[in-house]
Amino acid sequence: MDDLLKLPYWRCKPYVRPKPSETTEQNSRKRNSGMIEENLKRKKHKEQKKAKFQEKMAKEGVKPKYEMCVKCPGNPRGLKCGFLFCKACCRKRLEYDDTDCPGHRIYGKASREAHLKERKLREAVQVESAA
Ligand SMILES: [Zn+2]
Ligand SMILES: [Zn+2]
Repeated sequence: MDDLLKLPYWRCKPYVRPKPSETTEQNSRKRNSGMIEENLKRKKHKEQKKAKFQEKMAKEGVKPKYEMCVKCPGNPRGLKCGFLFCKACCRKRLEYDDTDCPGHRIYGKASREAHLKERKLREAVQVESAA
């Protein structure tokens, strides 16, 4: 082994991995706790930002440039949304309410399928006319 290390640097040398029992356990534990901390920090920061924004709105009595979503105060609602929702809430709405929202270009399952069928039909016609 020592002989190998004496070889010039341009020669390939074997790399000996440290034993897994020594390192991986420590590393993985460190990484996991670090990630949780990071997530918590990010979450806290987001909440602080939101609280600050709401405070500012209340204090100054300024109307926000955009109307806010009626479901969550953090996002501006879609200007053309018939449900006064932001896009995220509008998409979530589909889970219990299968109505289209043309303002958000969000369509329920029923009309999505109809749309798909229509498109397939149109494509078939195009292929036929091209041939
Ligand atoms: Zn919408
Ligand atoms: Zn929303």
